[in-house]
Amino acid sequence: MHQVPVNTPLIDESDILAVSQALRDGWISGEGPVAAKFENDFANFCDRQYGVAVTNGTAAIELVIHSLGFGPGDEIIVPSFAIISCVSQILRCGATPVFTDADPLTWNMDVNAVEKLITPQTRAIMAVHTYGLPVDIDVLVGIAKRHKLVIIEDAAESHGLLYKGRRCGSFGLVSTFSFYANKHLTTGEGGMVVTDDDSLAQKLRYYRNLTFRPEKRFVHDELGWNLRLSSLQCALGSSQLARIDKILQSRRALGARYQEALEEIADIQLPLSKTEFGLNDYWVFGIVLHGKHSGARQEIQADLEAVGIGTRPFFWPLHLQPLLKKFRFERQSPLPVAENLGSNGFYIPNGLGMSESDIAYVIEQIRKRLK
Ligand SMILES: *Cc1c(COP(=O)(O)O)cnc(C)c1O
Repeated sequence: MHQVPVNTPLIDESDILAVSQALRDGWISGEGPVAAKFENDFANFCDRQYGVAVTNGTAAIELVIHSLGFGPGDEIIVPSFAIISCVSQILRCGATPVFTDADPLTWNMDVNAVEKLITPQTRAIMAVHTYGLPVDIDVLVGIAKRHKLVIIEDAAESHGLLYKGRRCGSFGLVSTFSFYANKHLTTGEGGMVVTDDDSLAQKLRYYRNLTFRPEKRFVHDELGWNLRLSSLQCALGSSQLARIDKILQSRRALGARYQEALEEIADIQLPLSKTEFGLNDYWVFGIVLHGKHSGARQEIQADLEAVGIGTRPFFWPLHLQPLLKKFRFERQSPLPVAENLGSNGFYIPNGLGMSESDIAYVIEQIRKRLK
């Protein structure tokens, strides 16, 4: 039977050569010119001064939250329709995530719901670009200016994505990326923090590198982590960055193909191909069930699995996570859009390593199952 996993990464000959070269040159740790080059090139690509490469996108967010010194009593506004990585360190450090609902069409944070959640304890807004469309970040930047809040931009899914012609990863105080295997740019596992703030960049490097200091290397005033990204991964990152435009073009072409092939199916919602802010680059190709398909997601995913097609459910809303019970969220009201997406959304294979016959097979089987 035809098997199409939810993600088939595309690693090309130039990627393999780049990693081999790092190996031949003996650059294998997180130190040295190969890592520095990737950090600089990626920061430039995001119109930022500094890049700090880390082991994954979750670590990038955790390092930022720690470096900004948030703690008990601080509130951070976060979209509920997002990944656990957005709140893990907020919860660990004793701060409070305050959740917003999603927009039903773009699946991004409902930016109009943000301002009324601000209290004297609010410190930051986490702006996440979701599934290929940019969040309306100008509105969030405006709110942050008025209330003296920090914007943390989670651009893990949005390498090279444009918002009103400007690169995602260039907004707010600091932005984070993931280079996990299914992201547009991948180093297998990996991540990066980018910022223009010199003192924040220094802190990020300090906490990333076990709080080693040049003067007294093995004497520590504080605890840090080892989150260094190896040069092998950085070599792969630089190689992918060199063809990121081509990568995004291919994702868009596949997205357009799915749009056209699936748009006539009743009772499903497809992604918007664009908004007034920019084009969708289809990090994933999501489908939200409604009408006669509403509530049937599990069955539909199982049926697709049975014909060899891998799918994933959408994020489960953060405000409903069982682990939050012990943090007592008295103020939490229902967030119906995030809850509907979490119950009725799933995404289908769209990795760039898919063959022509994989794509045709996915379309054929989805049409058949959702008819
Ligand atoms: C993938 C992702 C992350 C986490 O990145 P990892 O490298 O998997 O740790 C964080 N935020 C968002 C929005 C993501 O999609």
